[in-house]
Amino acid sequence: MTKPLVSHLPHHDVVVVGGGPAGLQSARFLAGKGLSVVLLEEHPSVGFPQHCTGLVSLEGLARHILVSDRKVVVNRVRGAWFIGPGGVRLLVERSEPVAAVVDRPLLEQLLLDEVARRAEVILGARVQPELLGADSPVVVAAGVSSLARSRRDYVLPALQFDYQLSQSCGCDHVYVFLGSQFSRGLFAWAVPLSERVYRVGLASKGNVLLRLELLLKRLHSLTGCAKPERRLAVYGGAVYTGGMLDRLVRGNTILVGDAAGQTKPTTGGGLVYLSIAARKLAEALSAGEAGLYERLVKRELGAEMRAQLLLRKLLNSLDDKFLEEMMLRVKKLGFEELASREGSMDRQAALVLKAAPSLLFRSPSLALSLLPKLLQSLLVP
Ligand SMILES: Cc1cc2nc3c(=O)[nH]c(=O)nc-3n(C[C@H](O)[C@H](O)[C@H](O)COP(=O)(O)OP(=O)(O)OC[C@H]3O[C@@H](n4cnc5c(N)ncnc54)[C@H](O)[C@@H]3O)c2cc1C
Repeated sequence: MTKPLVSHLPHHDVVVVGGGPAGLQSARFLAGKGLSVVLLEEHPSVGFPQHCTGLVSLEGLARHILVSDRKVVVNRVRGAWFIGPGGVRLLVERSEPVAAVVDRPLLEQLLLDEVARRAEVILGARVQPELLGADSPVVVAAGVSSLARSRRDYVLPALQFDYQLSQSCGCDHVYVFLGSQFSRGLFAWAVPLSERVYRVGLASKGNVLLRLELLLKRLHSLTGCAKPERRLAVYGGAVYTGGMLDRLVRGNTILVGDAAGQTKPTTGGGLVYLSIAARKLAEALSAGEAGLYERLVKRELGAEMRAQLLLRKLLNSLDDKFLEEMMLRVKKLGFEELASREGSMDRQAALVLKAAPSLLFRSPSLALSLLPKLLQSLLVP
């Protein structure tokens, strides 16, 4: 067992382990409630190494992430192209921007600046939460690597590159590529940072580099955009899509962020949900009741995340032919208009519930062939 660098801390009301967005948001909101907090981060600075694409809904940024500095927004987008394995294209868009690409290192630095004004921050300190021996609550925000083994099936290696394009392209839509050639278990993406620079990546079970190279080769033909010309940056990482853990509080230890499985099972996005969870955590601990955190966060996100997990399992069970066929049918049924009008990046279950009856009545054969897959998805752990 490795020896913790920090094992004896001066007393604080709460110890936060991990200086990623979940730890920073937790420390920020806890200190905002008047609790004395110490945050420990293993790296000498926050925000690095970067692994996140940084795409968040504008609503989530304003209402939950609560960082108003405009410099944090690199680009705004108003829609998405979903490209199927056989080339079918669905467009979901609004007339105004709905999402932002945020500068993750800057976001974390801004959060750190705020936290450091009200709490103690110790950088370069790798700790083993279980060895802290603290009598105060320990918030574990140590990221995806600290997830329980039982959830590892839903942890997907990810790779993405920032590429300069051969010429300017539109920069107000993202691209999502579905199908096994690009990903098993999620999807691939191309997210514009500007008219000349796109962040192109994917998360998948197996062969991430080969899949990404294939996507880069085909990017021009799939999107109609300019060709990737010069690689500017490389990011690794791991995306989690397996839903929230059942137990978030064990004795004095409380889980938040990726460590608690608080990412969207459909997309792997975590920034909005972890910010919601951090607020609930502060509410609970300021009331002196750690167990309340689990109840509050499940009330807010539980049903939505369970529905998304079911959808994720269903999508994972479809082969490329079926997926393409399904995308074609929902396109014919007017899904693009419905999703453009009513879709929400952070609340997706409502849209699925709205679309389901029309799928059932107007395309019963598709609904019937989906049913066994749906039932099977309910049984997958
Ligand atoms: C490729 C990729 C793309 C993504 N894109 C998006 C996106 O577009 N939008 C979105 O919302 N989300 C996205 N996500 C998900 C998002 O990045 C995560 O949900 C988020 O970073 C989780 O934050 P966290 O603080 O829980 O964990 P992390 O960001 O992993 O932070 C954990 C921190 O804890 C520290 N730490 C770990 N162990 C210890 C220890 N023992 N002692 C001290 N410190 C420790 C680590 O150094 C790290 O700083 C993406 C993820 C990946 C991999």
